[in-house]
Amino acid sequence: MDDLLANRAIQDLVAEHGREQVVVVLRNVLQELRESIAIGSQSLDILISISSIGEMVAKETKRRNSPSLRRVINATGIPLHTNLGRAPLAEQAIAAVVQAARGYSNLEYDLTRGERGSRHDHVRELLREITGCEDAIAVNNNAAAVLLVLSSLAQGKEVVVSRGQLVEVGGSFRIPDVMEQGGALLREVGATNKTHLSDYERVINHNTAALLKVHTSNFRVIGFTEDVSTEALVELSHQHGLLAIEDLGSGVLIAGYGEPTVQEIVATGMDIVTFSGDKLMGGPQAGLIVGKAECIARIRTHPLARALRLDKMTLAALESTLRLYRHAEHRQEIPLVRMLNLSQDDLFHAAEELRDKVNAIAGLTAQVIECVGQVGGGSLPGRDIPGFAVAITSPLSCVSFEGRLRQAEIPVIARILHDRVLLDPRTILPHDTEDLLVSLRKAAGEKS
Ligand SMILES: *Cc1c(COP(=O)(O)O)cnc(C)c1O
Repeated sequence: MDDLLANRAIQDLVAEHGREQVVVVLRNVLQELRESIAIGSQSLDILISISSIGEMVAKETKRRNSPSLRRVINATGIPLHTNLGRAPLAEQAIAAVVQAARGYSNLEYDLTRGERGSRHDHVRELLREITGCEDAIAVNNNAAAVLLVLSSLAQGKEVVVSRGQLVEVGGSFRIPDVMEQGGALLREVGATNKTHLSDYERVINHNTAALLKVHTSNFRVIGFTEDVSTEALVELSHQHGLLAIEDLGSGVLIAGYGEPTVQEIVATGMDIVTFSGDKLMGGPQAGLIVGKAECIARIRTHPLARALRLDKMTLAALESTLRLYRHAEHRQEIPLVRMLNLSQDDLFHAAEELRDKVNAIAGLTAQVIECVGQVGGGSLPGRDIPGFAVAITSPLSCVSFEGRLRQAEIPVIARILHDRVLLDPRTILPHDTEDLLVSLRKAAGEKS
């Protein structure tokens, strides 16, 4: 051990990472070597070489000191890839996060009155203005929003849902389970493909609290189907003195995506509408609850609201993203909005440009092909978004080339189609291109 610690390479590691840590790594490495020698999978030769042990220690120390959560380049063309962190934030939102993180803020402080304020106030006015709701509150994510809404408005009471909307949204978020957690009693009506207004009407009783509509935002039931409109559901709820609640899932704020906007749903008279901050809105992870003032007041004072509240950095990003929605031109500064608005021409030219750069790398051959993508993140299901991709062949098999890209210093996540690796320019951010080329060169085996 002392000999090893006196070694030059190890001394350098000690200078950089501290003696304590290097000793821990060294012990682990030696232990592993002893074990592999004991079972005969490692020859003794390697033990002789202090420098080879030094290399192992250096490698392991480096691994321990690199962050686990790392930047990757999303070349899948799926803008809301849940595994890759959904929506990238607008520059304004990033700046707001940094500012909130660096110092103190009026997070819960009313500067006018010099007394305690509410963190919910920072997005309330914006959400009222943008969605037309009476009042609003933001929590940790949309799953939390649904849980909080049901806990505060329907605990111990029945909530009626269509069987066609008992969705699982991934990551084990199932509407029936959330309702149970929220203490609401699920009353299923209709069939998977068809639910009529009379199905809802038939089960309403003295213990019914609400009619719930869940937007089937991550799948589509197609064919012989029938669903009750939001308007009809609202009318029926109110005729019986019940609440009408809609979990919109994605929640678009801009018309033209072929889905009703949050504004349109609020305008139908829904008492409560919930949606995600990091799906089609293109903001940070958050769950937005908008609706009638009286309901929001009950939600805000429920104990769970405290447990599910947003932290200051997310709140800063959320406020900043919402601000961009006030002005049609500013919305283009939200990366997700920009990605979805890219024209076929834009995408084709971006693909051609990338193709030429890839073809300049020794060993790689690239071609522009037409492709169809998805928005991802359980948004706009079944809707193909047409675009173009750069299809690459290399001397390696496409599986090993894809693997090398994925394990590059700056990982590139790509798709494989018909034995070629596809890079979709839609989700490659402007500042990604240079690093993408570096990773491609390394994966192709070029020294750079
Ligand atoms: C995505 C989704 C959720 C969960 O939203 P998160 O923000 O991911 O927690 C809930 N309901 C529906 C309908 C969804 O599409």
